[in-house]
Amino acid sequence: MERVKTLILGGGVSGLSLANWLDGDDYLVLEAEQELGGYCRTVVQDGFVWDYSGHFFHFKDPEIERYLVERMGDQRVRTVVKDSRIRHGEALIDFPFQKNIHQLPKEELLDCLYDLYFKEGAGAGPPANFEEMLYAKFGRSIAEKFLIPYNEKLYACDLATLDVDAMGRFFPYADLGDIVRNFRAADNASYNATFTYPEGGAIQYIRALEAGVDPARVRLGRRVAAVDLAERVATTVDGERFAFEYLVSSAPFVRLLEMTGLPFDRATYTWNKVLVFNLGFDRKGPSGIHWIYFADRALPFYRIGFYDNIFDTDRMSLYVELGYPHDAPLDAAAVEAARERVLAGLRAVSVVDGHELVSHHHVVLDPAYVHITRGSVADVAEKKRVLALRGVHSIGRYGSWTYCSIEDNIIEARALARALNAAG
Ligand SMILES: Cc1cc2nc3c(=O)[nH]c(=O)nc-3n(C[C@H](O)[C@H](O)[C@H](O)COP(=O)(O)OP(=O)(O)OC[C@H]3O[C@@H](n4cnc5c(N)ncnc54)[C@H](O)[C@@H]3O)c2cc1C
Repeated sequence: MERVKTLILGGGVSGLSLANWLDGDDYLVLEAEQELGGYCRTVVQDGFVWDYSGHFFHFKDPEIERYLVERMGDQRVRTVVKDSRIRHGEALIDFPFQKNIHQLPKEELLDCLYDLYFKEGAGAGPPANFEEMLYAKFGRSIAEKFLIPYNEKLYACDLATLDVDAMGRFFPYADLGDIVRNFRAADNASYNATFTYPEGGAIQYIRALEAGVDPARVRLGRRVAAVDLAERVATTVDGERFAFEYLVSSAPFVRLLEMTGLPFDRATYTWNKVLVFNLGFDRKGPSGIHWIYFADRALPFYRIGFYDNIFDTDRMSLYVELGYPHDAPLDAAAVEAARERVLAGLRAVSVVDGHELVSHHHVVLDPAYVHITRGSVADVAEKKRVLALRGVHSIGRYGSWTYCSIEDNIIEARALARALNAAG
C-alpha cells in the first residue's frame, strides 16, 4: 500500500489547483479518467475546437488570471465583449431579459411593467424558494415569459424545490429603477460582461495548472471506490490502496458520501444532467453573437453558442445544451433522436439555413447543475464538518455541491492548500 500525506481525488481544475499551491511534493493525484481536466476538457475534431460545454472565463482576481496566463506559453487568449441574446418569438433581444423588456412588443412591455410595478403573482412574506423569488422580484409577466420557462429547461426540475439563492451571484438581479434606467441607456453589465477564451480551448487552463504539478505525482485511470475513514485508506475499483493523512476530493459530494459509507438521505441530493452537442458546419452562420438563450418549450435546447464568433473563423461551430433530470435515460438511441430534434430546432430558428453538418460530438455532463436546496446546503455543511475531523475535505463545483466558476474553484483550492500547509 502506498502512503502519501495528501491524496487528491480528481484531476480537474480543483484537484490540480490544490496540487499547485501545496508546499512540498508529498501528494498524489488520482484521476478516474485517462486524461486530466474534468469538465474543462477540450475536443479537437476535423479542425473544430470544442469544449465539453461552452466554457468562458471571467476572472475577478487578476492574480489568478496572471498565474494561469504566465503558464500558457504562446497560447493566444482573447478578451471578448460578450454579445448574448435571448430569442423571444421571432426576435432576438439583449440579455438579461428583465433589463431589456423595452425591446419587447408594446403590449408585452406593458404587461411586464404593470406586473413589475404591482408585483402581481408574488406571495405574501419573503420568498421561500427560487420560483417565489422570481415572482416576488420581477412580477408575473417577466417570470412567466422568460425566467421560469428558461430555468425549468435548464434545471429540469420544479423551481419551487430550489433555494432562493440557487444561482448565487450568477443571477442577474435588477430592481424597477435598474430596469427603467436601462430603457434609455443600456447597461447590461453582468458578472460576465467580458470573457476570456484561449485559442486552444478550456484545456489550456488545465495545461497551465499541470505545469505546476510533478507528472510523477499523477495517476490516471484510478477511480477511487471506497474511503475508509477510520484507517484513512482509499481503495480504487481495481483494488489499489493508498494510505493518506489528508484526502481532498473534488468528486461529486454525493459520491464521496457513498465512498465513505457515511449515512445520508438520498432525497437531499438531486441534480440535472446536460447533454451537449458540439456541431461543426460547412460554412459560417450568424456572425457576432456569442450565445443565445431559448425559453420556448417547443425547442429542445435552452442555450446555443457560437465558437466561430470568438476567433471569427469561417465555419459555424456550435455548442448546444439540453437539460435533463439526472435519472433520464440517455442511451445511444435517445442521443441520436435528440440530435435530430436539435437540428430541426436549429433550422426552425434559422441558425441552420441550408448548412451541411460536417462534424459532430456529444458529451453528457452528469451532474451539471446541482439542485441547491435548503436541505442540501445544511447537509453539505454538516457532513463536510464531520469529514474534516477525519482529514477528508471536499472541494470544487461538485465537491462543494454548489454553483460556481473555475476561478471560484481555484480560490477555494488555494485557500485549502494554504490551510493544510499551515497545519504542517
Ligand atoms: C454546462 C456548464 C457550463 C459551464 N461553463 C463555465 C464557464 O463558462 N466558465 C466557468 O468558469 N465555469 C463553467 N462551468 C463550471 C466548470 O466546469 C466547473 O466549475 C469546473 O470544471 C469544476 O472543476 P472541478 O475540478 O471542481 O470538477 P470536475 O471538472 O468535475 O473534476 C473532477 C474530477 O474528479 C474526477 N473524479 C470523479 N470521481 C472520481 C473518483 N471516484 N476517483 C478519481 N477521480 C474522480 C473526475 O473524472 C474529474 O476529472 C460550467 C459548468 C457546466 C456544467
